Amino acid sequence: MTYDPTNIFAKILKGELPCHKVFENDTALVMMDIFPQSRGHTLVIPKAASRNLLDADPADLAVVIPLVQRVAKAVQTATKADGLRVAQFNEAPAGQTVFHLHFHIIPAYEGVAMGAHATGRADDEELAQLAKHIAAAL
Ligand code: AMP
Repeated sequence: MTYDPTNIFAKILKGELPCHKVFENDTALVMMDIFPQSRGHTLVIPKAASRNLLDADPADLAVVIPLVQRVAKAVQTATKADGLRVAQFNEAPAGQTVFHLHFHIIPAYEGVAMGAHATGRADDEELAQLAKHIAAAL
């Protein structure tokens, strides 16, 4: 399995497609998932090209994991979630649908069932507000 540079996240990273951006630096982009499994579902996307965790450079992981933690805390603060799921899928049988490494931060709310993976487009205005609130909590 090789990295395909035409994947949708590569296009977002290059600015060829829009996103609800929360944060960006030299190494990563943080954005809202547009098919969220819960309110505040956020994605951390390293800029370095890899399909998933299996072919990622450990040096890139060493930089992105602290960011995943920082974003998780900001998502928790901004959404007041009761818990958070951090997920990352490797290859289609495991649930991966976009083949550029990314980490899901999915808020969990007491008594609210999490939605299905990658279904149900969220409202853009709501996503824009969430991105703003999470960015403010970073
Ligand atoms: P995975 O299945 O782990 O590869 O996750 C891919 C995620 O990307 C899913 O949760 C989708 O809802 C999400 N997604 C797909 N296209 C976009 C997009 N254009 N902008 C933001 N999120 C997206």
